[in-house]
Amino acid sequence: MKTAIVVGAGIGGVTAAVALEQCGWQVTVLERAPELGEVGAGISVWPGAVAVLESLGVEGVAQAARVGEAAGMRRADGRWIVEAAELNIELPVMIHRAQLHELITNRFGLAVSVHTGTTVTGLTQDATGVTVTAGEQEYRAELVVAADGIRSVVRGLLYPEYQGPRYSGYTAYRGIAEVEVADGGGETWGRGQRFGFAKLIDGRIYWYATANREAGGAGNDVGERFADWHEPIPALLAATPAVLRNDIYDLPTPLVPFVQGRVILLGDAAHAMTPNMGRGGCSAIEDAGALGRVLRDSQALAAYDAERRPATTKLVKRSRSIGVMGQLDNPILCTVRDGLLGLGGKAAGLLAKRRKVEQSPV
Ligand SMILES: Cc1cc2nc3c(=O)[nH]c(=O)nc-3n(C[C@H](O)[C@H](O)[C@H](O)COP(=O)(O)OP(=O)(O)OC[C@H]3O[C@@H](n4cnc5c(N)ncnc54)[C@H](O)[C@@H]3O)c2cc1C
Repeated sequence: MKTAIVVGAGIGGVTAAVALEQCGWQVTVLERAPELGEVGAGISVWPGAVAVLESLGVEGVAQAARVGEAAGMRRADGRWIVEAAELNIELPVMIHRAQLHELITNRFGLAVSVHTGTTVTGLTQDATGVTVTAGEQEYRAELVVAADGIRSVVRGLLYPEYQGPRYSGYTAYRGIAEVEVADGGGETWGRGQRFGFAKLIDGRIYWYATANREAGGAGNDVGERFADWHEPIPALLAATPAVLRNDIYDLPTPLVPFVQGRVILLGDAAHAMTPNMGRGGCSAIEDAGALGRVLRDSQALAAYDAERRPATTKLVKRSRSIGVMGQLDNPILCTVRDGLLGLGGKAAGLLAKRRKVEQSPV
């Protein structure tokens, strides 16, 4: 049996482990956290990633709550900028991260072994395989998948010159509100701050917010920041027992290539993006799907790079631009932005509708 090591058991790493096992590989997953799992509120899973998960036999994701019909983009006072129904796009499903992670790891079979509490510190490769070091321990395999996140140790070892993560200028807050609301959710854009929410499958509400801040701050000032925004935002914040806060970084310089010898980089380790499109985790899942296809078809690993690098490079750029627009603070620019977004959204919706009509069988 061919052997692989996956470094990191985030959403990308565990999906890669499932894909590798289903291609007939023996997989060792090395994770520095003491336990397997995910923290951090909800996550949007877009149709492309749902399709990959379904192709791997991961069940239950498509049943997760779909963003409601009334969803869309609003202003801080609640007036619509554009409603989702007008956009005519397929919407993501919303799921708790821990639930998504568990649905994926439920697919682990006997050929996947997980070593938690194992921090990878070194890696060398030769013609026959790769040796991965974690403290005193050594592991050897024919292939290594580096899924160790935005501050990837493996990337640091293989690309010592690469310029690392860059701060976006804003911080994100996330929480799960234990309250029922009769609102389909969506995003609300203000000046230098945004708020979004959506219903999870269990009825609770996942929300996230952003604010322009210096990097490295701490504390939870989200309640005061959004106190005068439209309902149900203040109600959601009041019903949230715990708030997570993360400064937002991405990898602005494309990493070239995603494959070095027998090591492939996947997920945030290769192409961390700001969360403005809700696609970082989905891209990690799609990377794993692509890796599985390449291995199943006995293609060279370069095919993985050729497929995933252009697609994710675009997403990193677009996510960053959306963030710049979303975090505008100047009142005049914000008014112009909201007007243009409303018009652009309606035009894009009409185009999407026309495309659907043209493509539908007579
Ligand atoms: C506020 C916010 C909201 C987001 N919302 C969405 C969303 O709605 N939809 C979406 O698709 N994406 C979203 N994302 C992006 C998404 O969270 C990431 O893209 C995704 O988690 C990346 O997965 P990953 O497996 O590549 O890396 P990670 O999730 O970072 O996992 C890396 C794993 O590697 C382990 N590790 C690190 N170093 C080592 C080491 N040396 N040895 C062993 N193990 C190691 C870590 O402990 C971790 O478990 C959001 C991100 C943020 C910050």
